[in-house]
Amino acid sequence: MSENQRLRERDLAVLWHPTTQMKDHESLPLLPVRKASGVWLEDMEGGRYLDAISSWWVNLFGHAHPAISERVAEQAHQLEHVILAGATHPGAVELAERLVAITPPGLDRVFYADSGSSAVEIALKMSFHYWCNQGEHQRKRFVTLTNSYHGETLGTLSVGDAGLFKKTYEPLLLESILAPSPDCFGLPPEAWDDHAATRLEELAVLLERHSQEVCAIIIEPLVQCAGGMRMYPPSWLSGLRRLCDRFGIHLIADEIAVGFGRTGTMFACEQANITPDFMCLSKGLTGGYLPMSAVMTRESIYQAFYDEYTSLRGFLHSHSYTGNALACAAALATLDVFDEQPWLERNRETARLMRAAVESLTDHPHVGEIRQCGMILAMEMVEDRASMKVYDWRERRGMTVYRHALENGVLLRPIGNVVYFMPPYVIDAGGIELMARVASEGIDLATR
Ligand SMILES: *Cc1c(COP(=O)(O)O)cnc(C)c1O
Repeated sequence: MSENQRLRERDLAVLWHPTTQMKDHESLPLLPVRKASGVWLEDMEGGRYLDAISSWWVNLFGHAHPAISERVAEQAHQLEHVILAGATHPGAVELAERLVAITPPGLDRVFYADSGSSAVEIALKMSFHYWCNQGEHQRKRFVTLTNSYHGETLGTLSVGDAGLFKKTYEPLLLESILAPSPDCFGLPPEAWDDHAATRLEELAVLLERHSQEVCAIIIEPLVQCAGGMRMYPPSWLSGLRRLCDRFGIHLIADEIAVGFGRTGTMFACEQANITPDFMCLSKGLTGGYLPMSAVMTRESIYQAFYDEYTSLRGFLHSHSYTGNALACAAALATLDVFDEQPWLERNRETARLMRAAVESLTDHPHVGEIRQCGMILAMEMVEDRASMKVYDWRERRGMTVYRHALENGVLLRPIGNVVYFMPPYVIDAGGIELMARVASEGIDLATR
């Protein structure tokens, strides 16, 4: 038996994989990865696969980046972890200082956690608790957008609208108020701002009705990633900031997927010149090395919790690995890589090359739209271009693209009918060429 096959069999005997119907693996081979470097994953027998999705959007500067790996190794010999309640360490402090410096002005406090979902849970709890501390105990609800995704725990599922992932658990969830997403699917770019303005007017009506019972609205700035890389313009975000101020509710920006340069600016909120009341960061935070997240908030919110212990105003929330020293080291090394070169500028050229590489799909009869926001490029397969009718999800056409890509040395992972590229920033012209060719063949196969 081959090395690849041996690992697959051992795996299927003991493991249960994330977001997977395990029965699929009766016919779909697992990708066994022994090592990786740059954009390339390598299997047990030396086969190579281009990681076109940055291993679920976490990797920024390639796998096994020498400087980041070294920093983590050094840190492991110094201090691997220490409890962050009552103790501190240089990495945690320096990282917090640097996050405060690079995030939008006004976000001056950092609370660490260990995953994107836990960061979202924290932002929700902090917002609710803030209002309690202000004596506004009637505020118990959150506003969320259609097609949004904020994680998989019960609290984060409650504020998401990820149909299939959520449906089964509905009876267990908090009831959120669902507002229409400003998603501009199918619209020409010149119509985006008008569409956003209409959505804002509808949102204003909804917020007015619920303003006294709402803690916060939670949104993914510019791109609803798990919702199929659906996009909308910065004007909606600036309008949203004004609405939150007008109705006196918090704005939670979930930048877990879009933060750290993905949309062309360091943080997506920058494109609308806004400061949210809470900003959730994770994924790219450690360059894809270690699980870590952070919730950034305003000093005024922090102050609302600052009091005698017995007042019960304190934020009594923790995760065991909060502020982990290895994760802090990876995050600091990642920020150093950002400082070494003008990556955002470089990414503009990389993004242009990605778009040019899929130009031939512009008139494909089953590609409804090619949309792009910085280093995220998505192609949506449709049954009928004229009506933009999407394929039934049960047909699993994305799976055909996934299989074809793997057989041809590219890890793509379509979301339903949406084939997308979200590669590490270090991808070169050859990598882009390969990724685009394989995606294009896969789309042909899947829509035949
Ligand atoms: C991935 C993601 C999360 C959840 O992060 P986990 O680390 O998987 O818990 C939340 N929000 C957005 C926008 C994400 O993309």
